[in-house]
Amino acid sequence: MFERKVKNFINVDPLQTGGKLTEEAKKALVEWGDGYSVCDYCSGRLEEIKNPPIYDFVHSELPEFIGCDVARITTGAREAKYIVMNSLAKKDAYVVLDANAHYSSYIAAERAKLKIAEVPKTGEPEYKIQAERYAEVIEETKKYGEVVLALVTYPDGNYGNLPDVLKIAKICEEYDVPLLVNGAYAVGRMPMNLKKIGADFIVASGHKSMAACGPIGVLGMKEEWESLVLRKSEKFKNKEVELLGCTARGASILTLMASFPHVVERVKRWDEEVKKARYFSEKMESLGIKQLGEKPHNHDLMFFYSEVLYEISKKAKDGRYFLYKELTQRKIHGIKPGLTRFFKLSTYGLSWEELKYVLSAFESIIEKYKKDG
Ligand SMILES: *Cc1c(COP(=O)(O)O)cnc(C)c1O
Repeated sequence: MFERKVKNFINVDPLQTGGKLTEEAKKALVEWGDGYSVCDYCSGRLEEIKNPPIYDFVHSELPEFIGCDVARITTGAREAKYIVMNSLAKKDAYVVLDANAHYSSYIAAERAKLKIAEVPKTGEPEYKIQAERYAEVIEETKKYGEVVLALVTYPDGNYGNLPDVLKIAKICEEYDVPLLVNGAYAVGRMPMNLKKIGADFIVASGHKSMAACGPIGVLGMKEEWESLVLRKSEKFKNKEVELLGCTARGASILTLMASFPHVVERVKRWDEEVKKARYFSEKMESLGIKQLGEKPHNHDLMFFYSEVLYEISKKAKDGRYFLYKELTQRKIHGIKPGLTRFFKLSTYGLSWEELKYVLSAFESIIEKYKKDG
């Protein structure tokens, strides 16, 4: 029943490579799958539960891992962003965000009734966010209203670019604007530390990058924000208003916790992941498929531009679905059906052997249609 067709495929879907469950998490998912089972011994709030040891996880292991004073579990990165924005929002105030920001950052701002000012990106081919532009945009926006928050997407979900977050944090500090680092594609993949960055908030996605089933996210902050963002209900004294009392009250948090020791170890191997991504990018380029975004690249998420595959799609029997079909036949999953000219993929967690297999698949597909054409 409800069989997943791509179960044993090589997965290069950027959304999915960092969210694959560990064996420990799979067991936790089954063990804690019943509704509200995590609440067996609840004393009033999710992160206070000592059995299973959610308390230790949220109060010590997680804050240590991301370098924050206070951490909370949310139902996703977007909910974490909304919690911060809604807490900081004022009438006619602005949030400054990078032009590569995820759609959910815009929607969170909209829901929190904040106005948006964008830090522009550079043009083709790198689409970079330059740190200094934050100063310009904050300066300009201040003329129209208070800037209550700045946000940087690190990396963005389109090009996998990593802006100079230390410099951005310094600029925001100079302007006395709190900074939120959206690490949905970073926390759990690469080393991340809020204190080292010097920002105020950090947001993570469990199902994107921390080997959890989700939906689940993490919000980390500096102590000074605790009383505002985690303010308590007047009527229910121990419930935090922005978290609506409790967030991920199900198996998702146990999968996050079960995978956590593995995640702590895997971020130490980040250099190897970057090496693989760069190798992959280089080989794709030699097939005539261009990598856009920062080069040399610093993240496993990559955006490609392929005139070669696009030309083939114009003549192929399956049209623009040819690439999807060919890759599926080769048991490779993750490039959206219908895409040929622009697509993204992620090499995260693939072995060198798998990496080479995917590259040889692209090569043989191009060869095959060249012959036919
Ligand atoms: C995937 C993604 C999100 C959304 O994460 P959720 O945990 O599903 O809310 C937010 N920002 C970026 C940059 C992303 O890539």
